[in-house]
Amino acid sequence: MPHAQQPRLNTWATDRAAGVLLGAAVGDALGVPYEFEARLRDDQQPRMIGGGLGPYEPGEYSDDTQMQVCIAKVAADGADLRTAEALDAIAANFQGWLSGGASDVGAQTRAVLGAASRASGAPGVAMLAAARRFTASTNRSAGNGSLMRTGIVALSHLGDAAEMAEAAVAVSALTHPDTDCADACVLWCSGIRTAVLHGTFDGVRAGLDLIPAERRGVWAKRLDEAEANPPHHFTNNGWVVHALQAAWSATIRTAVPELSPAENRFPAQHFGLALEAAVRAGTDTDTVAAIAGALLGARWGCSGIPLEWQQAVHGWPGHTTGADLVRLAVRTARGGSDDAQGWPSAPRMSLGGHRSFAIPHPHDAGVGAPGRSTSRPWSRCAAWARTRSCPAPTSSTSACGWWTVRGRTPTSTTFWTRPPARYCGCVRRASGSCSTALPGRVALPPSPRSTATWPPAPTPRPRWTTCAGY
Ligand SMILES: [Mg+2]
Repeated sequence: MPHAQQPRLNTWATDRAAGVLLGAAVGDALGVPYEFEARLRDDQQPRMIGGGLGPYEPGEYSDDTQMQVCIAKVAADGADLRTAEALDAIAANFQGWLSGGASDVGAQTRAVLGAASRASGAPGVAMLAAARRFTASTNRSAGNGSLMRTGIVALSHLGDAAEMAEAAVAVSALTHPDTDCADACVLWCSGIRTAVLHGTFDGVRAGLDLIPAERRGVWAKRLDEAEANPPHHFTNNGWVVHALQAAWSATIRTAVPELSPAENRFPAQHFGLALEAAVRAGTDTDTVAAIAGALLGARWGCSGIPLEWQQAVHGWPGHTTGADLVRLAVRTARGGSDDAQGWPSAPRMSLGGHRSFAIPHPHDAGVGAPGRSTSRPWSRCAAWARTRSCPAPTSSTSACGWWTVRGRTPTSTTFWTRPPARYCGCVRRASGSCSTALPGRVALPPSPRSTATWPPAPTPRPRWTTCAGY
């Protein structure tokens, strides 16, 4: 079967692809402490404090992201997720997770994986058969367990929406073949694909064209309902339909802040505000927030995710970090390969003689700030350092852990953080001044790139801004 090539992503789209898994994991970890607890009021702030069913460490994600990582490990090698080989590999990873790392497991997933493990034959075929038997045996087979892990599927098929829909159905069916589960995964993947490629939320509703015609009407009404009601209206959010409605409600009903750097307001803060709204839906909080987080991360990008959440999030297997999730997502979006310099997999990037590429931020060693360097056609988007284990650059020609995107245009992109808000973002500059052609840009003070210290002159300290809302 043909497998459409992945489109070549520009810097912004790459940043958005990088936000899909990370956004899901952040939502998951933010929702973990409140799963099946009393619903948070609007004035209560969700915090990544751990606990929940695991119980989990602060920042640790749960089964939702764990299972998505099982898929991502296959997708990150460029697999066509519709093929028997890929589905076998995913099914085998699910079994490895269940026996070796699952901290909590949904009831339907446990039943299906258990039955499949006792069957003979190829793992994917055995799992699909077990899932179909489970679905035929009960009228409660439309859980949210496949929607919560579907974001990476969208990234693996960015080149063709119809292929993506087939993959979403196939991966869902390994544990959740119910038509509502399949449709929900297709709609959400459509939303994520469009968000990555075009930076809008339009793809969820546009995804109606990708599901069978006879079910479009009912799903259109369900989306209408979600847009008309708050997330907690959908109380049965263990059901895939209410889970999608709660996540969509949180996403679409949360206002996108208007850009106002002077008041510390950036559109990308929508990521955090909408994610908190998803947690406040109550009941299956981590799953609703993981579902919302994949879409929000796809829209606002890695650079729109608050840095403290990026740095805190981690989980199975081993101590998978935010940087690992970014790597899996970017490799998937790139069709399974690194670039010619080895990015995003290489632990070290040679920067080819550019002096003082970056210096550690004095208030947070995990954040890089540009050091003395000259204009060059490099993009440094969505600043990501391998956080606390990352030493400062050790020589003038290399830096450790900064992930670097080569720009496609002869402009230089650099990033800043804005203490204490610590939102990272991209600031695209052209010829030493802000390009007026780019949407969402913000005014910048004079470039401090002539200095290797922080904060740079002049005094008074300039008000650094980001365009994490581009
Ligand atoms: Mg969970």
